[in-house]
Amino acid sequence: MTPHGQAGAPAGAAPVLLEARQLTKHYHVHGRRRSRPGSRLAVHAVERVSLALPADGVTAVVGESGSGKSTLARMLARLVPPTSGQILLDGREVPASAKGRREYTRDVQMVLQDPFSSLNPVHDVRYHLTRPLIVHGTAPRGSLDEAIADLLTRVALTPPAGFIDKYPHELSGGQRQRVAIARALAARPRILLADEPVSMLDVSIRLGVLNLLADLRSQNHLAILYITHDIASARYLADTIMVMYAGQRVEYGPAARVTDEPAHPYTSLLLNAAPDPGRAGPPVLAARGAPPSLVSPPSGCRFHPRCPHAMAVCAERVPPEIEVSAGHASACWLHATGLTAAESRPLAGRAGDLVSSRAAPDQGKET
Ligand code: SF4
Repeated sequence: MTPHGQAGAPAGAAPVLLEARQLTKHYHVHGRRRSRPGSRLAVHAVERVSLALPADGVTAVVGESGSGKSTLARMLARLVPPTSGQILLDGREVPASAKGRREYTRDVQMVLQDPFSSLNPVHDVRYHLTRPLIVHGTAPRGSLDEAIADLLTRVALTPPAGFIDKYPHELSGGQRQRVAIARALAARPRILLADEPVSMLDVSIRLGVLNLLADLRSQNHLAILYITHDIASARYLADTIMVMYAGQRVEYGPAARVTDEPAHPYTSLLLNAAPDPGRAGPPVLAARGAPPSLVSPPSGCRFHPRCPHAMAVCAERVPPEIEVSAGHASACWLHATGLTAAESRPLAGRAGDLVSSRAAPDQGKET
């Protein structure tokens, strides 16, 4: 059993560049929902999440909308301050000074989800790439055009002369996202935070952008955080997958292990919901309902109102993160030993949903 929220980087792996330790983000609710003066209603967007991004590796964070994955990326990009927890770059906390923040921003760049709004429609590609080259001082004097051409070549927008003077509206969605990635690369980052980089693109061009990220990882030894709701693309691109539910990390491990042998019922739900060309009928989802309110999240395991395997203990106590195989951990009471008969009885009113109260998590994969 590992402490809940421990980063869990595998031994012998590449050095960790960026690390989050027990990151928490609460947004306090203002206005009408703040019922009484002094009341402290808060959205518990992220709770005690830890993560390690190794050099030359892709780590995917997977979850539904509202799972906290984008908030996590924004904290790592230092766009929003964490409520508590630490962010370490090369094992050290980032100095609060302007210089420290500037150096952090150069090392850690973010690619946003929407390539249609992340580029300014009144400026051409040259402008979008010139600014970061100048701001971060990463182009030698007098060779801006060469540096821009190099960036465009790295994101496979070739020949560069065919793109450098184009405006965003003259580019396809995939080409815009490539310009956004080139803009991030202009700072010569070591870490790329990609927040749903393909979710707004046509299916036919998603693969090209995913392959570009894979090439950049191997050619530039980048550490990439890939945020997605699509667990199939996470398996395709990532070495490691972290699954988040309602602001918490619920499963973590090697991508193939997490997707082949899911150890948390929520991961099974995501896998069942993923498109599968080999499946004849519609997916059969074991879990019911929708993600909970993060203002007053469920007690115990936050997934228990939806979980087909929920037991009495699940509604009362937060499950610890339990290692199910090397480097693969799940925060689920199904893997705990020593539960009493009372703790492991099916949750009241849930017996009709259950196959077995102690069924293996991937029994949720009904076909
Ligand atoms: Fe949560 Fe319990 Fe279901 Fe595991 S079995 S996911 S702890 S509700």
